[in-house]
Amino acid sequence: MIMPQKKPTTAKKTVKSKTKKTSTTKKATTKKTTVKKPTPKKPKVLSMAKMAELYPEAYKLNKAIGKAVKHFKAAETLTVSQWADKKRRLSPETSAEPGLWRTSRTPYLKEPMDCFTDPKVHKIVMVAASQVGKSEFELNAIGYIIDQDPGTILYIHPSLDEARKFSRQRLNPMIRDCKALKSKVSEIKAKDSANTILQKSFPGGSITLIGSNTPRALASMPARYIIGDEHDRWAKSAGAEGDPWELAERRQTTFYNRKAIDISTPTIRGASSIEISFYQGTQERWCHECPECGEYSEIDFDHIKFEHTIEKIGGRKVYTINGPINWMCPKCGCLTAEEKMRQQPAKWIAANPNAYESGVRSFWLNAFSSPWTPWTKICLSFLEAKDDALRLKVVWNTLLGKLWEERGELADEDTMLARREDYGKNEDGTPTELPDGVLVLTMGVDTQDNRLEYEVVGHGKYGETWGIKRGFIMGRPDAEGTWQRLDDIVDHVYHFKNGRGLKISITMIDSGGHFTQEVYEQARRRQIKRCFAIKGKGGEGIPYTSPPSKIQLKDKYGNNRKNAFCWLYTLGVDSGKQIIMSNLKVEEAGAKYCHFPTSEEAGYNQDFFNGLLSEHLILTNTKRGNQWAWEKLPGHQRNEPLDCRNYAIAGLRIINPDMDALEARLLSLNNQKSSTTPAPKPQTAAQQPTRRRGAQRRRTQHDDW
Ligand SMILES: [Zn+2]
Repeated sequence: MIMPQKKPTTAKKTVKSKTKKTSTTKKATTKKTTVKKPTPKKPKVLSMAKMAELYPEAYKLNKAIGKAVKHFKAAETLTVSQWADKKRRLSPETSAEPGLWRTSRTPYLKEPMDCFTDPKVHKIVMVAASQVGKSEFELNAIGYIIDQDPGTILYIHPSLDEARKFSRQRLNPMIRDCKALKSKVSEIKAKDSANTILQKSFPGGSITLIGSNTPRALASMPARYIIGDEHDRWAKSAGAEGDPWELAERRQTTFYNRKAIDISTPTIRGASSIEISFYQGTQERWCHECPECGEYSEIDFDHIKFEHTIEKIGGRKVYTINGPINWMCPKCGCLTAEEKMRQQPAKWIAANPNAYESGVRSFWLNAFSSPWTPWTKICLSFLEAKDDALRLKVVWNTLLGKLWEERGELADEDTMLARREDYGKNEDGTPTELPDGVLVLTMGVDTQDNRLEYEVVGHGKYGETWGIKRGFIMGRPDAEGTWQRLDDIVDHVYHFKNGRGLKISITMIDSGGHFTQEVYEQARRRQIKRCFAIKGKGGEGIPYTSPPSKIQLKDKYGNNRKNAFCWLYTLGVDSGKQIIMSNLKVEEAGAKYCHFPTSEEAGYNQDFFNGLLSEHLILTNTKRGNQWAWEKLPGHQRNEPLDCRNYAIAGLRIINPDMDALEARLLSLNNQKSSTTPAPKPQTAAQQPTRRRGAQRRRTQHDDW
């Protein structure tokens, strides 16, 4: 507000009344002190009515510009954490603990937040597990900017959809619930172009939310502040324009007081952008004091000690953690329980403090310090995911806050060929088909225009597999003869050295390609032999196996055939590929190890391994931001062996047999006379988790699936 030149009388009044006000609380003595120590001259405030009367010109001017400048006042020199403690309210729909923000609840966020107001720091990097409050960190910074140090903010999410979601679910509620912000950012109105879901203005600045894959938005406006969310999932390149982070940083060059916040959950070592950012900074880790030796160390999963038991309930493994979960101090080896560790003093310790001089502070945080993640939850999540590479990667990244490391590079074809082993010889000198350890057989069939390719896979305990037979059936999938020859494989009894036999429990046949209806029909006819049609679906996040759907068969004119149905399984093939690749890296026989036979009849030759090792996982730029996808390696044009194995492994998941029970049965049968072990049956309908009611009602005796 514009202050007109003083009028002595009114001025005195203001000061006096002020003194009076304070003295009411501080009693009579205060009055004396105020008199003795003359308060510095304060600006005098006139009532609007008085001003209108005395200074009509100034009054008019004030009235005209008052609204526009009402938010311009000197910053209160708060840090971000002080600002948040004073003004931030957590919204009920997004927080388990709505109400006033308390930095003391997540003490590890204080330092990263407060270096935002350190003039020497221009970039803050945070690699963090989920559930540690990293979004709150970003929101507090945004709130601080709007309220204390306004400027243009470019807020980059992996995709535009995520930006919209964040704005609706997190940003809008924060603005609504913080008085200091609500008065500055006006509500979204249909016709208000200043405030939309993706763009909001406030006095002195604005915030624009964009996706990393929108180059135009990245290159269009100067920005003093950049906030990058989930950097590891960003597009590798924003269209043809180049690296999104670099594009964004170019928007900042004109600002001497620029700030950037780069936050992400880590992904895969060597392909992680946030990993690179982290190593450019101070590399600080949140360390706790050991109650025994007083040394500070990070609480990481490698030093978490606990005992657990496994129980089988309803065919599923249920893990229980027995006794306390302890942390072992890497310096002195003493064990300390979670409860005690949570009360221990903690601080950030930098491995590369010199980076402060170049203005980059970087922090790495796992979920062990999060007040919302008990250690039991982390350990149980780990146990439940440890047998599944894809799930384990998620736990690794989001809870343990670690970069996922593929265990060394995949061996090449020659190494795999050399790794093959002799399954032994029968009494008559022929090669043994089934080595000891195999408990179940499954088969995967890939359909090509001129042939079927198949692999029979033996499964043992703990994911150990044995290649049993791999081959081709030449012939078109619309020729009956082709399928009769497949029957020879399906009906074959495979023998152990002791003469005992095993049949294939389930056969999964690919229905993709040009012969979908033929595959449906052939699978339908072989339902009794447990042959099922499958459809492979690529892409992240699709479950490896899910309950089948019932498919109506059609005739050659495309009309529905009466009473002709088959079951179709949709497989998340990317999950399967990840399991296969991670198992192929296991180098010692035992859990997850893949055995292959040397015998020529079995068909595991150079060609097979070339196809099995035909794909690798790469980060690709899609419309929805960065995604991991499988891509063919150069020189590996045929990937059918990989597909066949993928379907065969999915088959095991679908029948989900109790391996312990099978092993016991096989051992007891070895002492009896019968020659063929009954193949384990697939899950019964009752065990199928989600079957549509209608489908169940229509079920006949034969289409039990
Ligand atoms: Zn210690």
